[in-house]
Amino acid sequence: MDTYESLLAAVTAKNGKTNEVIDPATGELIGLAPVHGVDELSDLIDKAAAAQPAWAALSDDERRQYMHRAADAIEASAEALAELLSREQGKPLNGPNARFEVGGCVGWLRTAADTPLPVETLVDDGTTYAELHYRPIGVVGAITPWNWPMMIAIWQIAPSIRMGNTVVIKPAETTSLSGLALAAVMNQALPEGVLNTISGPGSVIGDALVRNAKIGKVMFTGSTPTGKKIIEASAGNVTRLTLELGGNDAGIVLPDVDPTAIAEGLFWGAFINTGQTCAALKRLYVHDSVYDAVVDALADFARNVPMGNGLEDQNALGPLQNKKQFEIVDRLVESAKASGARVVLGGNPERDAKGYFYPTTLIADIDPQNDLVIEEQFGPALPIIRYTDLDEAVAQANSLEVGLGASVWSTDIKRAREVASRIQAGTVWINAHGMVDPRVPFGGAKQSGYGMEFGVEGLKAVSQPQVVSG
Ligand code: NDP
Repeated sequence: MDTYESLLAAVTAKNGKTNEVIDPATGELIGLAPVHGVDELSDLIDKAAAAQPAWAALSDDERRQYMHRAADAIEASAEALAELLSREQGKPLNGPNARFEVGGCVGWLRTAADTPLPVETLVDDGTTYAELHYRPIGVVGAITPWNWPMMIAIWQIAPSIRMGNTVVIKPAETTSLSGLALAAVMNQALPEGVLNTISGPGSVIGDALVRNAKIGKVMFTGSTPTGKKIIEASAGNVTRLTLELGGNDAGIVLPDVDPTAIAEGLFWGAFINTGQTCAALKRLYVHDSVYDAVVDALADFARNVPMGNGLEDQNALGPLQNKKQFEIVDRLVESAKASGARVVLGGNPERDAKGYFYPTTLIADIDPQNDLVIEEQFGPALPIIRYTDLDEAVAQANSLEVGLGASVWSTDIKRAREVASRIQAGTVWINAHGMVDPRVPFGGAKQSGYGMEFGVEGLKAVSQPQVVSG
């Protein structure tokens, strides 16, 4: 069982090149993360490749038991992991935040361990016999972002190791300690060489990881522009990819809703992790007949959700994780204000403060083509667009190049499902938004990426299918 101090000591750099990791709530230094070079990466990939055959040779049951022991190790150090995550990422300990994320790691790891993937008999008609096996690919390269640095790491690691692959993982630079700490705790239970960590800039280490010929598959979550670079870098070796590239999720509120009843669900759909979530609600289309009531109910709820330093128990919203993201949100809200949109709440950050806090912001009566609507804000500022014609709202929801998630809000489930069928997104939730589940496949449409994570589909995605015939 680790304490915050022992975890931090285990993952901070002892020598060599380092990167300063800053607490986004205070601007203070948390610790120094190692910055590795491409030679170290190459050695590490060799180590992962050398360990892979023995890991794959274990029975499925033996690998599953290792995964459950790794989940036990996370549970034993859960409080220390949550504290490090809160300090480094900024998300509060409480609410759907740091403790929730560490708990999610345990849940996803155990579910990936227990999801069955039997050999499939494809044809057995007396003359032809063919069956489909899912073999390991080899070494999986995992590249994670800074918004859910532990949970997304588990999404990439858990199915990979279950299927007999070994993993080399590179966390985002601004949250490397969280990724390194999670792996260190899991490695208390896993055999040497199965889960390996490297840290350094994405443009150097991430790129070299994707280009290495011994990497058979890359799991990536991050921005669409970086995803496109990874596609190019993967071409040389025809490396398999799963790309989760975020989005700009639309929610459509139909005229039959009870505004007060949906306010909480709308709020957390948009503001979970202070809006820094790939499948968060990022633009809300509300029918004119309920528009004012929905805006008021949402504002009433939002006003009462405390934002502040994540280590203080009462807070449920934190700072933005980094300055670059603060500046993106600030620019987009300023563009909305300049266009004459109505600021219902927030929109007035303290730009000179040490922490990257951006207040909870609701912007109403906004032009559907405003930058805050059509660009991903990835922060606590929700544009609320008025519509009268549902077909027009669906067309606007579908008008962007991305399509990760979406939601429809209505008391008429049949009607909501019909609207859902017309939306171009990997997942459409009804009366909720962003409710991912380890048993249910998750992935994007259009430029939100390709490949599915979670459930049986997620296991297949980190496997080499092989037909055995005859
Ligand atoms: P990036 O996509 O650049 O970063 C994600 C990961 O990719 C990080 O580990 C990064 O490393 C790594 N990386 C960067 N360049 C390369 C490369 N050439 N090859 C391989 N790996 C690379 O996201 P940003 O942090 O720049 O965020 C920008 C925007 O992306 C945000 O504003 C938001 O809109 C979106 N985003 C979406 C996320 C999602 O969940 N889908 C998560 C985070 C951001 P390093 O950190 O060292 O640069």
